[in-house]
Amino acid sequence: MYEHAQTRRQLLKTAIAGAAGLALGSPARRAAAQAPPAAAGVQRLTDDLFIITIPGEANVLAQTTRDGVVLVDGASAAGSDALMKAVAALPGAGPVNVLFNTHWHPEQTGSNERLGTAGKTIIAQENTRLWLTTDVTWPWNGQKFKRLPKVAQPNKTFYEKETLASGIRYGYIPDAAHTDGDLYVHFPQQNVLAVGDAVCGQGWPVVDWATGGWIGGIVGGLQRLQTLADDKTRIVPARGPVLTLADLKSQFEMYGAIYDRLVTMLNKGRSPGEAVDAKPTKEFDARIGVNPDEFVRRSFESLWAYLSPDA
Ligand SMILES: [Zn+2]
Repeated sequence: MYEHAQTRRQLLKTAIAGAAGLALGSPARRAAAQAPPAAAGVQRLTDDLFIITIPGEANVLAQTTRDGVVLVDGASAAGSDALMKAVAALPGAGPVNVLFNTHWHPEQTGSNERLGTAGKTIIAQENTRLWLTTDVTWPWNGQKFKRLPKVAQPNKTFYEKETLASGIRYGYIPDAAHTDGDLYVHFPQQNVLAVGDAVCGQGWPVVDWATGGWIGGIVGGLQRLQTLADDKTRIVPARGPVLTLADLKSQFEMYGAIYDRLVTMLNKGRSPGEAVDAKPTKEFDARIGVNPDEFVRRSFESLWAYLSPDA
């Protein structure tokens, strides 16, 4: 059932990536829509930091160190072999010793079992660990996610923020942008900030309100993450290209405007369907390039949990 759910989600993700790629004219994304090739792309950010992109998979950030490789996210289970191959081919690569899960979704946690079995460190915010210990069903489409076996669950969790001996800083994004367990990983020496799906670099974001994400959290997270960045910071989202502080600012304004419109409609007693029909994203649609309806519906529903008086 897990494989089945994952396959469906993978197909959906590939279809979305393909649609976005066509709109943006990106050859790599066009290829992803046709077939699931295994060839990984590598973008070098610094001597020791690399973004690994496997078609159809979320971005992975890899740091090569004398003590092995640190990964921020680990691809899906289906992409894990290709990811490990790409990691092994990085200049200066050694064994993967630390894996961050930016949140619980299968696109991020597909190498957990492999690395957990090998005794490696898997770091996540405590809420992410909790989601991975329980089965989850998305109410809006019935999709089911099975809990991970114990060995695949994060084995080093935290609540607020921590620093590794190597200087890597990581912390919780308590606004609950994408889920209620989102974390960032900050490489201060390299001025690189990995943000997972708390910031969306391509298309409209998934608002997973079943596990705590909400549109207000997207806005709050964008504001909070700006405090960790300067004009030169390279911000690596789970989907899409590297972003800048200016991108966070413009996204903050866009999602802030959408949030205000949705709250106004909620307060007027509108339904999710009416919210979609009102086209609260219309002046941004050309810029994002994909249909906003699912995003608007999920965002509106997410307000119920946080703002409804009887929630
Ligand atoms: Zn996600």
